[in-house]
This record gives sequence, structure tokens and C-alpha cells, in this order.
Amino acid sequence: MQTKELINKISLGYQPNKNEIIKILRLDKEDENLSYLFYKAEQVTLKYCKDEIQIRAIIEFSNYCRCKCAYCGLNCNNKLIKRYRMTIDEIVNTAFEAYEAGYKTIVLQSGEDLWYSKEKICEILKRIKGIGDLAITLSIGEREIEEYKEFKKTGADRFLIKHETADELLYNKLHPHSNFKSRFQCLKELKKLGYQIGSGFMVGLPWQGYDTLAKDLIFLKSLEVDMAGIGPFIPHPETELKNQVKGSTFLTLKVVALARLMLKYTHLPATTSLGVLNELDKIAAFSSGANVIMQKVEPHKYRRLYEIYPSKLKVHKSILEERKDIEKYILKAGKKISFTKGDSFKIK
Ligand code: SAM
Repeated sequence: MQTKELINKISLGYQPNKNEIIKILRLDKEDENLSYLFYKAEQVTLKYCKDEIQIRAIIEFSNYCRCKCAYCGLNCNNKLIKRYRMTIDEIVNTAFEAYEAGYKTIVLQSGEDLWYSKEKICEILKRIKGIGDLAITLSIGEREIEEYKEFKKTGADRFLIKHETADELLYNKLHPHSNFKSRFQCLKELKKLGYQIGSGFMVGLPWQGYDTLAKDLIFLKSLEVDMAGIGPFIPHPETELKNQVKGSTFLTLKVVALARLMLKYTHLPATTSLGVLNELDKIAAFSSGANVIMQKVEPHKYRRLYEIYPSKLKVHKSILEERKDIEKYILKAGKKISFTKGDSFKIK
């Protein structure tokens, strides 16, 4: 099948096999089919997700982590990082300020930090829900099913837990403290509990090939995720992968475009890691299928410590000023701003 025909078929609902996915991911900059891929991804976004960008506030409330992820600067073997935990009051006050600035979704993210017990997380959820009509996404890693159940009951609407790579052997190599089956189990249980679920993966991990990326996309499709975060791997100097090559933003944009064609309604963020390498790539993601942007809102003194990967520090501005900047940035990219909570398009 010709590449253009394949792209058309996928945008109409055909599920490509591994080889077909790889054929598209291999398109180079000179290939005329490449601009067609991005064009189609944008058309599919407009059709299924409208031309509105969802803006989410993310509070990275703790950088303590019990895990040993080989790529992540928060891994517990990193003794150089200064660790922090936000108090419950600080978290709730930050959420309040974000709500006042116009945010309708609060993403609560942290390392896997069991200091935040079930009771503490529930108190945070309850108090943030009391602020107003807000959606809450939790991204706190692997917990007991009972806890997930309680969080859902208390007000968590969504859960983001990336599968990182769908290659089981590679996953197990990169996560010596855990395994792929356990991650997958969490995703399945969360879905069963009625959460809108988010998964995702890194592009450019060492030992990853085009076939791994094809597996990743097929995995997301099989889970019918409501959100998927796809971003380039960026080496961190305090990890065992410090000398590895960073992920390609060009390849990431192709993966995002193909994800849009295959997943249709799924929320796809222009990930922060895309903007780390080049701010323009983040804008380009909006013409390649992305429809979400996440903005850090925790106090600046903590932002520089939540160092998953190295990134430039930004000028200190208030939550409201930063929100206004993002709104301008979205309009400049020719898109509209969503003022809804941005629930999954699948649950209408
Ligand atoms: N602890 C939670 C969990 O396990 O889901 C969420 C926090 S974790 C730090 C957030 C995400 O950061 C991971 O899912 C991973 O994809 C991403 N990440 C970590 N290190 C990275 C790196 N070096 N390059 C790109 N992304 C990275």
C-alpha cells in the first residue's frame, strides 16, 4: 500500500500493524508523505478534539521517590538532589491560586512517595474538590488497589501512569524495583475503577527501536487510553543513562502524529520534555496532533528541584501571569483555548 493511502486509511479507523507503523515512523524530512502525515494528524485533531487546547495545571508536590528508574533524576539513588515535600496546605493553596487563574484541571504529581498516605491524599483531594468545579488527575505511581478505589471515591477523576515502554524486557531492565506486569495491572485496575486513564512513553530510550515504538502505539490503542503523554527521553547527569543520546524531537513529533491518527479522541499533550530541547518543537506539536498543555504551578523554589531531566529555569512569574503567557502562546499557534474541564472526549 502507498504511504499516503495508508495514512488515509488509518485516519478513517484502520488499525495499522507493526510494519505499517514502522514505515510511517521512518519517513524522512524530504519525503512528501511527511507533511501529509502532519496535515492528516491536524485534520483528525480538529474533527475529534476540536481546535481547542486544554490547559492543565500541574503541581509537582514531592520529589521523594522510592523507585530506581534508570532514566529519572528523582530516582532514590540520586543523593545529590535536594528533596522536598509540599505540605497539604501548600498544595491546596496552590490549587486555589491555579483555579483563580482560570485552570479547571489540577494534576497532582510526585515521585512514588508513600509519606503521602491514603489519608493524606484523600484530605488533599477533598479540599481541592471543595475549591470549585475542578477535575483532578493523580500521577503518583503504583499504589494498592484499595487506595486507588478510595482516591476515586474521594474525588480523583483521572490517573496518569505511563507505561514508559511496551517492551517488557526493556521495561524490567530500566525499572529494577518493579516490572512491566505490575505497571500494566495498575492501568487495567484504574480503568476498571472508572478513572479516565492516561499512559504514555518516552521516545529515544536506549535499546529502543522503531519496533518498540510500534508496540507502544499498539499498546495505547489496546488500552483505549483517555490521555497519552509521549515525549523524548532526555538524559539526566545523575542517572545510569547519563551518557546516552537524547531522544529525537523529530521522531517524537511523528510518533505523536501517528498516535493522533490511531487514537482519535485521546488527549495528547505537547509534553514539557519537547519544549526542553526546543520551545518551537512544543508549538509544532500543536500541528502534529497534540491538544493539551501542562503548566507547572508549584512555587518556583520547588520547580527547580523537581528535576526529572535537566531543563532551563524560567523567569519567576505568578501563576496568573504564566497562564496569560500560555494563552497568548496558544493563540499565536493559531489555536483556541478551551475553558472546559477537559474531560475525556470518549465519555460524552
Ligand atoms: N511517579 C509517577 C509515576 O511513576 O507515574 C509520576 C512521576 S514520573 C517522575 C513522571 C514521568 O517523567 C515519567 O512517567 C517519565 O515518563 C518521565 N521522565 C522521567 N525521567 C525522564 C527523562 N529522563 N526523560 C524524559 N522523561 C522522563
